Amino acid sequence: MTKTSNNKVALCQSAFGDFQLKRIPEDKNLYAWNSADLYLLQHLFELTQLQKIDLCKARILILNDSFGALSVALARFSCDSYNDSFLAHHALLKNLEHCSLKYKDKVKLLKSTDTLEGEYDLVLFKEVKNQAFLNDQMSKLSTHIHRDTIIIGSIMAKNLQRNTVELLNKTIGETKVSLTWKKARLLIITPDTSLLEKVKNHQPKDTHQLNQSNDYQSEISYYELENSKEKIYNYANVFSRNKLDIGTRFFLQHLPVEKTYKSIIDLGCGNGVLSLKIAQYHPEATICCIDESYMAIASASMTLQQNLPEKQAIHYHAANALDGISPESADLILCNPPFHQQYIVGDAIAWQMFKQSKATLIKGGELWVVGNRHLAYHLKLKKIFANCTLIASNKKFVILKAVKT
Ligand code: SAM
Repeated sequence: MTKTSNNKVALCQSAFGDFQLKRIPEDKNLYAWNSADLYLLQHLFELTQLQKIDLCKARILILNDSFGALSVALARFSCDSYNDSFLAHHALLKNLEHCSLKYKDKVKLLKSTDTLEGEYDLVLFKEVKNQAFLNDQMSKLSTHIHRDTIIIGSIMAKNLQRNTVELLNKTIGETKVSLTWKKARLLIITPDTSLLEKVKNHQPKDTHQLNQSNDYQSEISYYELENSKEKIYNYANVFSRNKLDIGTRFFLQHLPVEKTYKSIIDLGCGNGVLSLKIAQYHPEATICCIDESYMAIASASMTLQQNLPEKQAIHYHAANALDGISPESADLILCNPPFHQQYIVGDAIAWQMFKQSKATLIKGGELWVVGNRHLAYHLKLKKIFANCTLIASNKKFVILKAVKT
């Protein structure tokens, strides 16, 4: 593996060629791929040399490609790239444009809420942190493979959870873990088509039907909000899907109710719980729910549709923060910012959200943020807005308001 960097774009040298790749958001300390990508590509290349698979003829599915390293390397063979992350799809498209424009149309983007079609001959997947989401993916996949489908996962060894292999054994087939190479491991799976019937018959409690086909139906669970009993719906990969997050609970107790707002954005809306309450406090306002997770957008949409009167104007956007939102178009933005992207903890996205909020707010418009005390968001807000008011605090969290002057 070689990485040469000019701080923004770096050269990824893989078994299928060299590609200039970048992360989104850019980070001069991190690359857009890791050794788990390279190990997987190397193993696949060896399979082609041994004539175990002909990539020109195979139907290929790639799951959870972080910034496009796998999809860019295999674009020339045509592939479907399935992801829950708008940001990952966005990075993939940017990297494809940059590297191999002529193959751009050969990669089809599939959202985590899309149904898969037909059978795949080769499935490559990158690790996901959330086991419920992995379970959902594998269960969904199990009706789209055949006896000879080659299925290979790749994971950084430190992230391999004890129950991952067990989960794969149960949902998709016998899973062998490879030796470690540069701190990465492969998960090599022999598909078990007898599991297929089990998955088809599996219908978890409280699951809502997504389509009428014989496919596995994605599990959508819900919890009830304390005091109101309203149902908050959650797809598998949504933040705090089993219960109300404690930071969110604190934010709900201090949402702005006194002033009137016309245009409200819930930035990083997750399951839509903040949108629901703010919409009830301000029934005349237009609400815009934004998240980079397709499953979050689908969950928010279900939460609001089930709990709000039809006439309230709600919009949903799968987007990277406030990209594409008109400047000076909102008078209130609520934000419980993410503090990690995939496995990487950091504040790059919070910075982006705060800076873009300033541009998106009208004069006098307000950004309300909840965050862990130790994240010191007040420093960022003061730097960007030149003001920041403490609305409320407890031992763990603060709620801050910054006004566009
Ligand atoms: N608002 C919800 C709540 O309070 O329960 C969820 C808050 S959660 C801490 C942060 C949310 O931001 C997640 O739903 C995550 O998917 C979303 N997110 C992460 N990166 C994002 C980005 N670049 N653009 C938009 N949303 C993003």
